[in-house]
Amino acid sequence: MMIEARRLLEWHQAKEKRQAVQKELDKLRAREEELAARRQEAEAKIRRIGEPSPDDIDGQIELKLAQQELWLVNKDTERFMEEKFEKEFALMETRREWEEKAAEREASLSPEALALYHRIRENISNPVVEVRRRSCMGCFLPLSVAKMEEWHKGKSLVTCDECGRILV
Ligand SMILES: [Zn+2]
Repeated sequence: MMIEARRLLEWHQAKEKRQAVQKELDKLRAREEELAARRQEAEAKIRRIGEPSPDDIDGQIELKLAQQELWLVNKDTERFMEEKFEKEFALMETRREWEEKAAEREASLSPEALALYHRIRENISNPVVEVRRRSCMGCFLPLSVAKMEEWHKGKSLVTCDECGRILV
């Protein structure tokens, strides 16, 4: 009901969305590092084997296997780079959009609202929730009549008596 509570919720959601996008970007980076490590390992193995003499059958087999692994890693890397090329730019764009939205929302919030949010956030991951069917959507318990009245008036931020979340 209260506009500031709504803005708090939108700010919180924008931060969460930004974080989800960041996770996707981190995953791409981790995959790239994993492939680079595999490639280095395969290359090191080939160097270690060197050039086995033609009658060193075990050495020849070992070399073939190492070369095959390097070929596979290169194929996987090629495929991954295409995927990365497609995804990374879009993800970075989306991250920037959510960052902008979060910054814009944050600038519109009062220091009191931010302080309250951060205090609740220490223990609760979603400090701002909506009211539906006269209930808090954080703990799903019904709100008292007095609480509903306070919330309807919308003069200040209202928190749930049961769980302490800010009610929108
Ligand atoms: Zn609650």
